[in-house]
Amino acid sequence: MTTPISRRMFLTLGATVVVAACSSSEEGQSSVATEVASTAPATSLAPPSDLPSNPFTLGVASGDPDTESVVLWTRLAIDALNGGAMPDEDIDVLWEMSTTESFDEITIAGIATASPQYGHSIHVIAAPANVTGPLHYRFRLGDYTSPIGTTRLSPSSDSLEPLKIASASCQNWTAGFYTAYQDMTELAPDLVLFLGDYIYEGGVGSLDSGDVRLHNSEEIKDLVAYRNRYGLYKSDPLLQTAHQMCPWVVTWDDHEVENNYASLTPQDIVDSEEFASRRAHAYQAWWEHMPVRLDPPIEENITIYRQISWGGLINMLVLDGRQYRNDQACGDAVLQLTPACEEALLPDRTMLGTMQETWVAENLTSESTWTILANQTVMTDIRLGAAILNYDQWDGYAPSRDRLLDVVDSAQAKNLIVLTGDIHLAGVGQLTTTSDPETPRGIEFVTTSISSSGNVDASTESLFVALTNIIDAEASHRGYILHTITPETWTAQYRIVDDAKVENSSVSNWKTFSVTKGSTTVAEI
Ligand code: FE
Ligand code: CA
Repeated sequence: MTTPISRRMFLTLGATVVVAACSSSEEGQSSVATEVASTAPATSLAPPSDLPSNPFTLGVASGDPDTESVVLWTRLAIDALNGGAMPDEDIDVLWEMSTTESFDEITIAGIATASPQYGHSIHVIAAPANVTGPLHYRFRLGDYTSPIGTTRLSPSSDSLEPLKIASASCQNWTAGFYTAYQDMTELAPDLVLFLGDYIYEGGVGSLDSGDVRLHNSEEIKDLVAYRNRYGLYKSDPLLQTAHQMCPWVVTWDDHEVENNYASLTPQDIVDSEEFASRRAHAYQAWWEHMPVRLDPPIEENITIYRQISWGGLINMLVLDGRQYRNDQACGDAVLQLTPACEEALLPDRTMLGTMQETWVAENLTSESTWTILANQTVMTDIRLGAAILNYDQWDGYAPSRDRLLDVVDSAQAKNLIVLTGDIHLAGVGQLTTTSDPETPRGIEFVTTSISSSGNVDASTESLFVALTNIIDAEASHRGYILHTITPETWTAQYRIVDDAKVENSSVSNWKTFSVTKGSTTVAEI
């Protein structure tokens, strides 16, 4: 394959060279290409470097594991807040994996090339053969060595070993500290699922108005500014440690580009001409900074919806609810109690786009115990009669939701769990269709934000909980959810930070909910 990434996917494995090209089919399914035998020698010599200081300032990450390989990520940046300050040339970096943290024995290693075109980011598809346990990895360049990350492959499809997934979203730098990640690292999930709003695009902020730390620039609109913003967020040691802990599966929401954008429609129509270019820059910077098994964007688009499996336990479809959606209906109003305008109910209205809807339908059926939709915005129907409280969520795309939930039924997808972020509050909901509101099709677990401020006052909790489909809600804390998944039970433990505006604040349980296999009801335990 001659994609731009393929040269960097050139892996050296003992006496075998593995060419692992990262390719996305038109349906969005990613795959690792074939292995090619060669006689290249094993190497553990770091390429020489005359860089003036350490380029591994942004840490390391891994992600999108399958049973044969996992993506290893880093980005070289001497000065990540100022464009990276790297030489304008390709730089070769050694990567190594080992089953021991001392790296006494190298399981697999290779050379990856970081190019200035992609901000000197590196995405390696590492395919260590016959390893089922934890794997440590690092990058080396000259005398510099990156932090060590720990990752693993997905277990084989006959494995039913329990799985712990942490779901997280919304980490506005200015609004709070990343204490939730400290707790998450201590509780050691196998996988982190990040559901969007990894960065926020806004301006500097203000300590006088309640921000606890400041952004590094005015609102970001071009590639260098987006890169510098990721550089700021990824400078946080708690976030870096959480990435080092285990593989992540990442999708995006709106703030990776701009608040409440929809496809190529920006929030403010005055910006519409420039928006395609802005979005392209934002998408590229996102790709450069995430450990994703994806080709880089082509022009203004990148297909990021994809399937992740874990043993015989889960079939997870990672959704993209931003790139293909119709514009928010009825002027994108919030908390309006008047009946929705007709546009919101047009039958061809879509959240996912036709291609992604088809892809979902084709990939829902599996042998796995649990079907997960990793999703951006709230899917539970919380319409008040004909009124829609939030047009940015699935309520504003109800025909699309009905199609999705009906196809879950027709595909006989087992035990649907929807994992959601976006709304900066913790919630548990049951998923129903417009025509059959009495029959739950599955359960939605909404994580609160890691740090972003709550959108609604805590006093609204009781109003939400009074809604038929809301089982419970908590609006006043930041945190994440730790899901423990077994062949029999799904357990969602809601972890909340006492005060995310204070460093090292304590973290505790809010509540724990569970779903039993074969049931579409959820109960607090
Ligand atoms: Fe958010
Ligand atoms: Ca959002």
